[in-house]
Parts: sequence; C-alpha cells; structure tokens
Amino acid sequence: MTQQRFESLKLSTAQLQNLRTLGFETMTDIQAAALPVALAGGDLIGQAKTGSGKTLAFGLPLLNKINPRDFGAQGLILCPTRELATQVAQEIRRLARYQPNIKVVVLCGGQSIGAQIGSLEHGGHVIVGTPGRIRDHLRKQTLSLERISTLVLDEADRMLDMGFIDDMSHIIGHTPAARQTLFFSATYPDDIRKLSGQFQRSPARIKVEDASDSPLIEQRFFICHKESKPESVERLLRYFQPDNAVVFCNTKDAVRDVAARLRRSGIAALALHGDLEQRDRDRVLIQFRQQSCRVLVATDVAARGLDIADLAAVVNSDIPHDPETYLHRIGRTGRAGKQGLAVTLLAASERFRLERLADDQKAPLSCEPLDTLTAGQAPLPAPRYVTLRIAGGRKDKVRPGDILGALTREEGVTGGAVGKIDVTDYAAYVAIERGCSGRALQCLSDGKIKGRKFKVQLLKN
Ligand code: ADP
Ligand code: MG
Repeated sequence: MTQQRFESLKLSTAQLQNLRTLGFETMTDIQAAALPVALAGGDLIGQAKTGSGKTLAFGLPLLNKINPRDFGAQGLILCPTRELATQVAQEIRRLARYQPNIKVVVLCGGQSIGAQIGSLEHGGHVIVGTPGRIRDHLRKQTLSLERISTLVLDEADRMLDMGFIDDMSHIIGHTPAARQTLFFSATYPDDIRKLSGQFQRSPARIKVEDASDSPLIEQRFFICHKESKPESVERLLRYFQPDNAVVFCNTKDAVRDVAARLRRSGIAALALHGDLEQRDRDRVLIQFRQQSCRVLVATDVAARGLDIADLAAVVNSDIPHDPETYLHRIGRTGRAGKQGLAVTLLAASERFRLERLADDQKAPLSCEPLDTLTAGQAPLPAPRYVTLRIAGGRKDKVRPGDILGALTREEGVTGGAVGKIDVTDYAAYVAIERGCSGRALQCLSDGKIKGRKFKVQLLKN
C-alpha cells in the first residue's frame, strides 16, 4: 500500500466518488506505478504478486476510454480461466458503476455459446473472457474486435503455460493496431518478452517487489510417510486449527484422497480440481469464500490466480517441484499485514526439495517429525456459516438486496445472521449463520423474492 490517493490521478469526479464508495482510498504499489502510465495511454507490462490490485490498475484506464453511446466492444480482457474472468468482470462492473450503461460481457467456455451470442447482440462495451471461447466467437463472426481501444492480457504467463499462445496471437490480430496494450504477469519469461515485442509499443516495464510484503509468513516443514499424506494433513489441521486453509496437492488424485479423508473425519473440506464441472467449481469457491467450508483442497492449476485473500494457512500436502510454485502458494497467506502460516509435508525422498527452497530463500529451513504434534490435537470447529443456493440469479433480476430483504422480513432471521451474498447469472448464494439455517431456508422457500418463488437448497459441505 502507498500513501498516494486516487485524487492525484486524472480521473473523473464521478469515478473518484465511486472509488470512495468502494472503500478504495490509497493506491497499492502496482497501481501507483502503473496508473499514471496507463491513464496517459502508454503500453506496459506489470508484474506483481496475486492480491496486489492489478485488476484496478488496468480496469481504470480501460473504462476511462469507453464511450457508452458506442455499442461496439472497446475493451478486451483475456484471462486464463473462467474463474479469473468472472472475478475480473465482477471487479470491472464495480469500477464501472460511476457511469450508467457500461455493459460487461463474459465469454468463457463451459457456458452456452447461444446465450453469449444473445448478450453480444445487445452490445457489450467490455469483453472479458478466455482465449478459446473468444476465438470461437471470432470464427462465428458473433464478435467484432474492430473498435477495441484497450487490450489487456491478465495473467499472461499463465495463459502461455496453458498453451493459449496461438489463440492469443489470433485474437490480437483482430484488434486495431492503434490500441493500447497492457500485459500483466506474475513472471517475465522469454515467451512474454517475445509476445510483448510483437504486440506492444515501447512498453514500460513495471515490477513491484514483494519481498517487503511477505515477511510475516511462518514456514514449518514436517516429515511423514508418503502413503500417509491424507492423515498427516488432518493432523496438521487439528494441531494448527486455522480458521481457513487451502491444502495444495501436486495431483488431482491426491486432491481427491485428501479431501475424502478430511470429510470422513468430519472436517468441512471441499475439493477443487480441473475435472470438476464448471458449475461445481463455482459452487466450491463460493462456499469457501462464504466461510461455509473451512478447507479447500486444490491443485495449483485450479487455484492459481484466484482471489482467495486472507488465508489463515496454506498447507502443502505435497512439496511443490520448484521454489517459484512454493512461493506462489504460500503468498496467499499473511496478507494485509496479518501473520500467515505455511505448513509443508515431505516424504523422506523429497528432502532434497527442501534444500532447494532453502537455497532459493537464502535461509536455513529445517524439518520436524510429525509426532511432535501428537499433543495439541483437537477437532476443528464447524464453519461459521452454511451456504444456501437460490435457483435464481442475475438473469432473473435477483439482486443481493432482494435476498437480504426476503430473509429479514417478519418470520425471518436478523440481518446479522446473514453473511456474504453472491449472485451469478443463474443462481444466488447466501451465507447464513449455521444456527439459523433452518429458519432461513424455511423463510426463503415459503416466501417470494422479486414476487417469484425460487427453489432453495442447503449446500452440503
Ligand atoms: P491481483 O489481480 O493483483 O491478484 P486483484 O485485482 O484481484 O489483485 O485485487 C485483490 C483485492 O484487493 C480485491 O478484492 C480488490 O477489490 C482489492 N483492492 C484493489 N485495489 C485496492 C485499493 N487501492 N485499496 C483497497 N483494496 C483494493
Ligand atoms: Mg488478477
């Protein structure tokens, strides 16, 4: 965080007011470095860690140039996954509130292309999507990029890792040469350098060091048997008692095994990996963010870049293959000046990886036997909330306020018992204090939202 306020930038008073309403007062480091360049129209490559506020760093300059009366697509943001695209679109919609009538359209795989074509027919000023699906629309000629004034590649290195290079080049080829091009990337490998050389004009390279942001992570390493990883993870959780945690595994199978073991032992854990249907992945993430599930078990691919801020702990069921992945994983805890905890399990045969981490960090790292944690074992308390799923969403004009209203009327629950509310296109999710879930469920099932009855269901965790 810097001391620099948004008022020092060339932004409209309406946008400045909007930023205040959103609670954004001072700029993060990457914002303070990137915004003056980007708002002046320059190309740039921004490098900063997850959670540093990159979306706003490209969102403000992109929105600044939108003409709402022109219905053509003027801003294009490419993201590696649907989750990231959805998150970015959400943030852009909030930033766009200063201006009525700016339409943001999300174009990703796993969703009906017909519905997307329908949305595009109504015009979309900002397109956020994954390269594959955007290319599909170009082929069908259901999307024109001729009016794009700002092109953003978010998590560019990740998109390259996922093999999107051809799609990306193809898409960029459909945009005007006179556009502004903003790259954001966690790392700066050769491929990014090449891509930048090909598609950017004398970009400013803006790198924000994160060393000073993350000295607050306590790192612990424990030796265990390769075969006993799932129960060892359980032991770690019972000992450290984190309010919430992401458990990383190196493979999908390991994710399944660990999640199954935790659930059998009564710990509210959900699995997140690439084989899940998109819809289920959305649910899992929402349940985790709504604090109705305490532990998320995930692979790197499924979790990378996701804005799960404020983790009490990161548990590595498997030590990652390289130091960079390790730092990425543990960087999710210890945010915003809070103490974080990163606990890693290693089998005896994986000890050499610990030495590599120590080399990388230029610090001694030692491991402990798991037995030292045998005292101090306690069950994990149930999560604070449960999540109710309402089978009506944005497309049904359901808004968070409508749900809150329906929940807190006479026979309902108090506002204090209601946690986070997430509304997606076709469904809404609301967190309810565990003790009030029955009443809330009854209240929503019996009553109406927006004058309509919707199916409501309690999500298992
Ligand atoms: P990144 O893309 O770098 O991982 P995000 O853009 O997803 O980070 O932002 C992370 C979180 O920080 C979001 O919840 C966002 O709303 C919040 N945020 C961004 N900029 C600011 C700011 N200047 N002040 C306070 N919160 C901010
Ligand atoms: Mg981001």
